[in-house]
Parts: sequence; C-alpha cells; structure tokens
Amino acid sequence: MRDTLVLNASFEPLSTVTLNRAVVLVLQDKAVVEQAHPDLRMRGAAVEIPAPRVIRLCRYVRVPFRRQAPWSRRGVLVRDRHRCAYCGGRATTVDHVVPRAQGGRDSWLNTVASCAEDNHRKADRTPEQAGMPLLREPFEPTPADAMLLAMGGRGDLDDLPDWLAVRAAA
Ligand SMILES: [Zn+2]
Repeated sequence: MRDTLVLNASFEPLSTVTLNRAVVLVLQDKAVVEQAHPDLRMRGAAVEIPAPRVIRLCRYVRVPFRRQAPWSRRGVLVRDRHRCAYCGGRATTVDHVVPRAQGGRDSWLNTVASCAEDNHRKADRTPEQAGMPLLREPFEPTPADAMLLAMGGRGDLDDLPDWLAVRAAA
C-alpha cells in the first residue's frame, strides 16, 4: 500500500496515512489534494479524483506531541478500527484485557475494542481465564492514529465506499 503524506492546514507535515484513508479524508471534505500520483486515479460511479500523494487538512489540528496520546474509549475504538479483538466483528465497546475487577487499568496496553457480545461473555475474566485469545495485542497508537484522534476521527476512515477503486490512468 502506498502511503500519502498528510500536511496540517498550516502546511507542516504531520504523518503519513494509507492511500485509502487519504482518499476518504478527501471525500469527507476533511482534506484537499496538494499533490497527486501522475499515473493513478481513484475512480467510482459518480466521482473520479487523482490518487493523492500529499494531502492537506482543511482545518488546523493540534496534534499532541506528548510521547503518549491520552487514553480514551473512543481512542481505543479508533486505534482498533472498530474491530473486535476477539472475533474480528464490529466493535462498539471497550474491553479491559485484565479486568478492572482484577486490578486492570484504563491504558492503551490493557484495553481493546470488543463487540458487546464478547465483552459480556468475557465478563470479569482475563482472556486466558475466559478461553478467548486476543486476535492481536493492544498497542500504543501510531502518530497517524494520534492525528486522526486529534481530528475527531470516527474510526471508520479505512472503510472505502464499495464503488471506489484505484486504477491506472489510460
Ligand atoms: Zn466479538
């Protein structure tokens, strides 16, 4: 996957995101294309735009330069792209890997996105105790995640409309 450079509204480079995510930001009117790939266009039924190599955010975002982004439930859902850590389905809740009842903290490394069903089933148990292995380990958010969080990302920025595809220009 090609990465696209993201500039803040003030033109300072912020981060890189996947091409798909860059296109979604442009389609959501959150960013404009500053520089496009000469030979690639994103084409859909009703729209065709150049595949962005550099985009610039329409609104200035204040990105925390702290080493650690502050923990939040919304942040966990964004980081995990709303995918359940136990079944891979659509996640709407945040599960504590080590439950709070057993001393687990609100932290990036102790929380994962989870569907309501798995969260309920796991209850106050660790994944080992519940026999529910994690599909992936929780991690500190990447700079791109931190940027999307600062923008108020909804967490579904990776979801491209079905009709959109990349094609080489004729
Ligand atoms: Zn699940």
